[in-house]
Amino acid sequence: MRRKIVMGNWKLNGTKESVEALLTGILPAAQATTTADVAVCAPDIFIDQVSRKLADTPIAWGAENNDVHTSGAYTGETSPTMLKEFGCTYVLVGHSERRQYHGESDASCAHKYALLQEHGLIPVLCIGETLEERESDRTNDVIRKQLAPVLNDLGVETLKNAVIAYEPVWAIGTGKAATKEMAQEVHAFIRQLIAEKSAEVAQGVQVLYGGSVKGANAVELFAQEDIDGALVGGAALIVEEFDAIIKAA
Ligand code: PEP
Repeated sequence: MRRKIVMGNWKLNGTKESVEALLTGILPAAQATTTADVAVCAPDIFIDQVSRKLADTPIAWGAENNDVHTSGAYTGETSPTMLKEFGCTYVLVGHSERRQYHGESDASCAHKYALLQEHGLIPVLCIGETLEERESDRTNDVIRKQLAPVLNDLGVETLKNAVIAYEPVWAIGTGKAATKEMAQEVHAFIRQLIAEKSAEVAQGVQVLYGGSVKGANAVELFAQEDIDGALVGGAALIVEEFDAIIKAA
């Protein structure tokens, strides 16, 4: 039985004050749940504040991105070693906004993924198709291609220390979540691709759904056999919504 994860992705949002209020607000639900792990991925500038607030609580924290180097002349970047020093557990890799606005490729995502694992962090590999790709029936091809560098080059065993987030690009921030059937179908396909390499790893890996998850649709999504929780954007900034998603898990 895989444990659920409810993970927030704050994106480029927050102030010192709103971070304090949000974490204070979601803490009781995170402390009460026995069935889910709760985590927040924050902009780097807030990670120190988050780490102080969440130390000795059940909420884990993480970052939204990392550089492919550990140190050096790479102005503006944050390395996995820095994230580790500030207590991060998870780091998002290849979120569609990074792929779209920062030109991240499947190969660069695999590089980041490997470096994170090398430094004891858990990569959350984000994959998913655009609307155009779905409408032209290419969803499975896109998923296969995005997973290929990890499955074929780094090796299936690396998924023992990673999380996958299936996030259809057309569902992110649009208010139009995938239906439970659509999401389950792709999650099952992801697990099948992994099972072709290792049935054991496929059974164990947590595959989160992301894309307009709210309190109102979380229960039915989480009831699907292959959906192991959610990566939550907009609703992760609203205490009542994030609470409801934690309770649904
Ligand atoms: C995300 O940014 O990962 C996400 C799923 O966003 P939203 O929940 O707002 O669609």
